Amino acid sequence: MGWNSGAVSIELRQQVLNGPGLLSNVALVELEYPVYPRTLKKQLLRKLESFPSSALLPAPHVFITMENVIIIGTGCAGYTAAIYTGRANLKPLILSGNMPGGQLTTTTEVENFPGFPNGIMGPELMMNMQTQAEKFGARIEYTNVTGVAKTPEGHFEISSEDGIVRLARAVIVATGASPRHLGLPNEKSLIGHGLTSCATCDGAFYRNVPVCVIGGGDSACEEASFLTKFASTVYLIHRRDSLRASKIMADRALANPKIKPIWNSTVAEYLTDEKGEVRAVTLENLVTGETSELELKCVFVAIGHVPNAAFLGDLVDKDENGYILQTEGTRTKTEGLFAAGDVADHIYRQAITAAGQGCASALEAERYLADIGVH
Ligand code: NAP
Repeated sequence: MGWNSGAVSIELRQQVLNGPGLLSNVALVELEYPVYPRTLKKQLLRKLESFPSSALLPAPHVFITMENVIIIGTGCAGYTAAIYTGRANLKPLILSGNMPGGQLTTTTEVENFPGFPNGIMGPELMMNMQTQAEKFGARIEYTNVTGVAKTPEGHFEISSEDGIVRLARAVIVATGASPRHLGLPNEKSLIGHGLTSCATCDGAFYRNVPVCVIGGGDSACEEASFLTKFASTVYLIHRRDSLRASKIMADRALANPKIKPIWNSTVAEYLTDEKGEVRAVTLENLVTGETSELELKCVFVAIGHVPNAAFLGDLVDKDENGYILQTEGTRTKTEGLFAAGDVADHIYRQAITAAGQGCASALEAERYLADIGVH
């Protein structure tokens, strides 16, 4: 497997058939430098002997994994990369992240993804992509990646919240972006207590009460329109006097009698009741400087997203907003590390452009693996 030098930490999996194909008893083994296949086996067996006997029943089947390609993220970019690398027989492993399916799982109808003239629900689109990726041999493991490092041999060591360190020859980062917040002092603690970034998830809890959406983009308009199904009034609070959203979505929102735009304004403070739930916001008019209180039951923050790239350290260069800088196509400054979708795209940020980049990253990863003599 080419692990004949360098300090490596190797994922050791004991696959015990204690159910229909269940994978259990996962352990990490640190092996010392240098590691040759024969001494490697001896070291693994020595480590296994130190496990409790219950962990060894029945006779263990030991697999050491060096993946061809690990795809981090399960949004449009990640699943498309998985479909293409799967069809190239690379047997990709996908690590799901905290939000399997990505941003589209928090949206309702997607009207602009080609091939669906009547639209398709976001979660359904993502489930279809997952099924399609699995059909071509992609495997999904549900964990959140915490770090990526390059070993002296040029492999990637991927750490994650499940405690497993996985190894791969190539990595496609398709981790997307997470909702941005205003940065007010009590904001994080109010998430789930009258503050959210997902109307689809939380809108139905706020029936016949006033709510607000902060932002002026497509997300804000979409969330506001959706919330009119439940709320009595939806205040659309925007810091300028015109919306950034596409014309069709802006027109649809502004034509809705339940949506009341509040222009040139920002939320300066979240106010809570005795139970710690949001009861109102302090509005600041950015033109006049005046402040006022607006009573409502929930704040939907829709002011854009922050790319999820912090776990990559200095393996990638980023722009001033944290988006990964691609060098050529989806390549990054680190050989074998590719970035696709919203984590690297601050311009288009569409489901279809993310899918396109996922495809490109898969083709480039395939070429890279061929160049290093793997495939
Ligand atoms: P966006 O287009 O970047 O809009 C963010 C909005 O939040 C802007 O109006 C911005 O104000 C405002 N904002 C940013 N920081 C703020 C702050 N600190 N305080 C107050 N307001 C702040 O983000 P998005 O709406 O999430 O859309 C992202 C991408 O996804 C876009 O390309 C969009 O077209 C796409 N999208 C498409 C659909 C769809 O087609 N169905 C749905 C949702 C999103 P300014 O306008 O002043 O900058």
